[in-house]
Amino acid sequence: MIPAYRTAKFARNAKKVLNLSILRALRGLFFFWLIGIFLLALAACASPQHSPTPQPAPTEHTALPPATQTIKPPPTLEVLPTPVLSEIKGPETETPTASPTPKPCLSSPLAVQPLDKISEITTQPFKMPRIMPNGSYKDDAHHGVDLGYYTRDKKLFTGTPVLAALNGVIAAIIHNRPPYGNMLMIETPHSQIPQPLREKIPAEHSLYSVYGHLQNLQPLAPGDAVTCGQQIAETGLTGFTSGPHLHFETRHGPAGQSFDSIAYYRADATKPELANYERWRMSGEFVLFNPMELLAP
Ligand SMILES: [Zn+2]
Repeated sequence: MIPAYRTAKFARNAKKVLNLSILRALRGLFFFWLIGIFLLALAACASPQHSPTPQPAPTEHTALPPATQTIKPPPTLEVLPTPVLSEIKGPETETPTASPTPKPCLSSPLAVQPLDKISEITTQPFKMPRIMPNGSYKDDAHHGVDLGYYTRDKKLFTGTPVLAALNGVIAAIIHNRPPYGNMLMIETPHSQIPQPLREKIPAEHSLYSVYGHLQNLQPLAPGDAVTCGQQIAETGLTGFTSGPHLHFETRHGPAGQSFDSIAYYRADATKPELANYERWRMSGEFVLFNPMELLAP
């Protein structure tokens, strides 16, 4: 039989062993829990390290789109200025296209003599003919102004370039017929007549200017446009003239007139030539005035 004190001692020992084993089990659980927390912390720390690696790629992608976006704006910037420039150039190119109606222009009819000194070489001035009661002219006096001179080496005034004094169109080309010899007539529309002369001429009238006694006519045809200052011929000795000079004659009359022939003072002058001569010189349809009102107002 086991004594009672030994049974109690055994029970106390067993209780101690049981407490120790429970403590050890709890301690083991605690360590496992700590390791688990540590591993979770590692995993939590590692996942941010892995996520930045994919993120740079997005930043590379986001870096690319901005690049294409910065490339795109310049084209739109380049496209915008170009229309603006073309719009600015547009009116400039439209202004020249509006030049079919050029400004009135006046030139010396002789290349060798400036316009402001043209009266210095007048060899015979304009002299108004008698005017009949019906408004026609007598074929007397001097219907134009004669311009000429002797050069320093005593050579005659021939071969000097003759220039169109005004803009206009060729209204007549006459080849070596009396009295004008080789002659060119230019019609200048009313809008092209320089001031102050234009104010004195009816709006429905053109200015007709005649260049007589010419040589070496430029290759021009009736209806051809000429511009002021353009060479049309040279001074010569053709037609009725006692000395070399340019006969310059001006009238105003109905717009759009032209002459295919003009001649007088010769037995071989045809009826159309005579009729045209009388119409131009004497009828009064073309109103005569002193050319110096144009050249030296
Ligand atoms: Zn003359």
